[in-house]
Amino acid sequence: MRITKKVFTDLAIWMMGFGMLVGVAFPFIIILMGVPAEITLNVLFFAMCITAGLIVGVVNIVLAKKVVGKRLKKLTDRMCHVENHINTVLKTDDFNCTPENCYIDVDSEDVLGDNAKAFNSLVDTLSVSLKTEIAIRRYTEMLTSHLNINDLANRALQQLVSISKANAGAILIDMSGALNLLTSTGIVMPETLTDNPFINDVLRNEKRANIKLPADINLDGVIAEFRPKEVIVEPIKYKQVPLGVILLSSVEEFPAETHSSLDLFSQSLALALNNALTHDQTQKLAAIDPLTNIYNRRFGLIRLHEEYIRAVRHQSGLGVMMIDIDDFKIINDTFGHCVGDKVVYHIAKVIRSAIREGDIVMRYGGEEFICVITGASLEDTNKVAEKIHRMVKDSVIKHGHQTIKSTISIGLTSYPEHDASNEQDLIEYADKALYTAKDMGKDKVITYN
Ligand code: GH3
Ligand code: MG
Ligand code: MG
Repeated sequence: MRITKKVFTDLAIWMMGFGMLVGVAFPFIIILMGVPAEITLNVLFFAMCITAGLIVGVVNIVLAKKVVGKRLKKLTDRMCHVENHINTVLKTDDFNCTPENCYIDVDSEDVLGDNAKAFNSLVDTLSVSLKTEIAIRRYTEMLTSHLNINDLANRALQQLVSISKANAGAILIDMSGALNLLTSTGIVMPETLTDNPFINDVLRNEKRANIKLPADINLDGVIAEFRPKEVIVEPIKYKQVPLGVILLSSVEEFPAETHSSLDLFSQSLALALNNALTHDQTQKLAAIDPLTNIYNRRFGLIRLHEEYIRAVRHQSGLGVMMIDIDDFKIINDTFGHCVGDKVVYHIAKVIRSAIREGDIVMRYGGEEFICVITGASLEDTNKVAEKIHRMVKDSVIKHGHQTIKSTISIGLTSYPEHDASNEQDLIEYADKALYTAKDMGKDKVITYN
């Protein structure tokens, strides 16, 4: 029953009231026990009994405050402490509530002990949920700051492995019906994962699969650098379309929170991967000539500019060739424009196959190409040009029953043997040399002079 709004004050009133009542009743009780009434029924004796009752009440309340109040105060302090922790999480992204600094001692087997247990388990739940929240926040930040597919997959896998407490993992992506490995860690021969039937089933069924491997089972194929106890394969789906899979493997069974949060991580990854794929396609559309699949003029010139700057900075060689198909009008007139297109496609392919990965070939005009050979002296460039020239000359294009042969003329230059103040100068030199080649009867390689 409440008298005031303070529990301990109420308790004090009740205890002192009860003490007084006992003090008043005590003289009569001891009469019943045989003490003469003249001793007990006088003011002094009453006063003594009431005072004693009051003193017991006061002592009780002091003890209650000391025993119970102290624990309640500790609970309040810990609650404030945990609250401060949560507030700092928002600024520091770090929630480190440990049993030492956030738990309450469970030192009694009663309602106060139960209180302490409930509080500690609340702190545990809070800790797991905040740590997951921090991890998701970091992960999403990372996902939104990467557009390159491989960078994105690498970073995502690093974080997924650390969040899920996995020891190995991989991300695979479906590209036109075939699985491709984007990244992996801790896996032996990761390239074999693309043909793994278990992984392919997950992609087909679009459902997570996990296997727990009992310790006594024999593994005929080793997939990880350790003996896994549990393997999870989670599909990555964007708008119900499967994009790929995440594979995680651990020496221990995965904690429950890994199972519960994995689809959230997979959904965010799906969104980011889809963005990166779209970005990749847009980049390609903006950079690639649709007829020949080589760089278009706009993007090719940007790449040439970059290579020119690099060559000047490192004082390294840079070969530039201008290539033009000989008598192309005749090909068009004889066989028609479609065949003409086929010839353009074929010659682009031959040039591409003759140069190295880091070199550049672009479609500069209708049937003109610029080829950029990085790190090449004039002599190197000339060798590559002669190679391209011969390869085109030796090749044939089949059109129905007909075989078409065609030749090219090449004009070339190379920085720094030919001084150039920008890449446009190099194009101009190569163009002049090409003009000379045409002038001298075509089907030739001519170096700018
Ligand atoms: P030259 O040996 O002097 O180079 O003679 P050419 O006939 O090849 O003359 P030119 O290089 O000026 O040829 C340009 C012609 O190529 C004009 C154009 O009709 C044709 N052409 C340009 N681009 C394409 C294309 O993409 N497809 C087809 N079919 N024809 C093209
Ligand atoms: Mg031309
Ligand atoms: Mg031509």
